[in-house]
Parts: sequence; structure tokens; C-alpha cells
Amino acid sequence: MSKPSDPYSDVGLEIVRPALEAIMAEAARAAPEEACGLLLGNDRRVTEARPTQNVAQDKARHFEIDPVALIAAYRAVRNGGPQLIGFYHSHPCGPAEPSATDREQAAGDGKVWAIAGQGVVRFWVDHPDGFEPLCYRLVEA
Ligand SMILES: [Zn+2]
Repeated sequence: MSKPSDPYSDVGLEIVRPALEAIMAEAARAAPEEACGLLLGNDRRVTEARPTQNVAQDKARHFEIDPVALIAAYRAVRNGGPQLIGFYHSHPCGPAEPSATDREQAAGDGKVWAIAGQGVVRFWVDHPDGFEPLCYRLVEA
């Protein structure tokens, strides 16, 4: 990541093809509800998109990652496992960009959010002052 004010100037993230395909497959499987899960990897490379349960009440409009899966992921990080790079979820009938609800839910912790919608996956960084689009490069596993 170079200049954070100009995210398009840099390819900030790499994702292996099976992880990207897993996000699309999960989005299709979960529709008309929102799919969600964890982006795991190392440094700036996502090597796994791990599906989790969506435990939100209204799954067609919201997502909430299963806290049990989240705690397990953080525990794995402490034990030397892959890093938690961020999260993904899908918009069954919306664009692949943060919704008003997403902006409310955002922690501003610098995590990567992948959002699947309308047949594409786009990546965002959850900055304290809002989401910024993140370029990514698809790599073969
Ligand atoms: Zn959303």
C-alpha cells in the first residue's frame, strides 16, 4: 500500500482464484440471503475465503458473522495460523459496494471487506474515516 489517499494508484491486495470463486459461489448459494465469511491469508494475499453462518435476524438485508467462527479465527491467528485479513459478504440485490448499514457496522479497523454483488466482487478497506476502494490482483493458487 503506498499513498492511502490514492488507492487506485497501487494494487493493494492479492487473492488466489479459488478464494475469489468461493466468494461468488457462496453468494449464489445463500441468495436471496446474504452470505458472509472470513478472508484469511498472509501479508496482503488472501488465500482462503472461509464461509461462516450469517447469524443476523434479517439475513436478506444484513449479515452478522457467526461470533464462534470469528473467535476461532482469532485464536488460530494467535497460534500461528493464517491472519484474519478481513471479511466478505454478499448483496443479493445490490451493488458490490458498502451499503448504509455496512457503514454503520464498520469498525474502522483497517480490515479488508470483500463485497459480492451483481456478479462481481469488489474490495474495500474499512478506514476510520470510511470505506476506501482497494485494487486487487487475482493470482493463481
Ligand atoms: Zn453489505
